[in-house]
Amino acid sequence: MPSNDLLNRFIFDDCDIRGELVTLDKSYHEILEHNSHPPAIQKLLGEFLAAVGLLSSTLKFDGMIILQARGEGAISTIMAECNHHSNVRGIVRLNEEVELTEQLAQSGSILDLLGKGVLFITIEPKRTENFAGKLERYQGIVPLERDTLAGCLEDYFQQSEQLATRLWFAADTQRASGLLIQALPNQLKTNAEENQNHWETIEALADTITPEELLSLDHQLILHRLFHEQPVRVFEPRQVTFSCSCSRERSESALIAIGIDEVETLLIEKGEIDIDCQFCNKHYHFSPADVRKLLGGSVLH
Ligand SMILES: [Zn+2]
Repeated sequence: MPSNDLLNRFIFDDCDIRGELVTLDKSYHEILEHNSHPPAIQKLLGEFLAAVGLLSSTLKFDGMIILQARGEGAISTIMAECNHHSNVRGIVRLNEEVELTEQLAQSGSILDLLGKGVLFITIEPKRTENFAGKLERYQGIVPLERDTLAGCLEDYFQQSEQLATRLWFAADTQRASGLLIQALPNQLKTNAEENQNHWETIEALADTITPEELLSLDHQLILHRLFHEQPVRVFEPRQVTFSCSCSRERSESALIAIGIDEVETLLIEKGEIDIDCQFCNKHYHFSPADVRKLLGGSVLH
């Protein structure tokens, strides 16, 4: 059976509008295994994962798109990442000081769950030895002022790219899906009024999608259901997979960054150092000998 974890880009032949559809299934299950939260929180994470899947298609280089919201509500941090190869991962951190009431646990509103907060959209080029420093990291910030992630991202596109963009998300505890349409810079020989009319037509058609359809229909069926009267060209789909970018080398870099004094203090307290990846639960163990090899001879000999 073909995988359901797909990202499909499409374009309209007779107007300057592009679109994308993404569905996460197996990858979403794998991520939820490490995020056992109430359904409303899992669904919001599903929306974040679908969103980074959609946004990743605009990465022009080997890098990563990171969507992170921080707030003062029941959720303190929610984050999803997707790289150039459509590998996704995500995590939610709850605020221990805010009770997750039944009412909150039922709410799907990003504002209710995060409270006063901000959304960061970060594009991070992959740092390689040859490439270090050549590509700039980009970060956009939007205050959380709308009830939905789609609304917050539409605000972001409005402010940053000034390209009309609409997004629809749907997630339950099994699947997460998203639809995006975006006006492209004018290329076809049409005037502003025609462009506006095209946009309004496509937007109105896209807006008839229901969450149930987004979650249950395959992408071809969704496109037919929404745009069967429009000439739509669909590109080869991309496979989306859950993959964590943690590694022993990264854990070593983290220890080096912490610094020898702090690491020594940790070793005195605990006898050894254990680093657990919060995205995938992978465990990295460092004995005093490992640490000595990494940081030099002065560590506890
Ligand atoms: Zn990991």
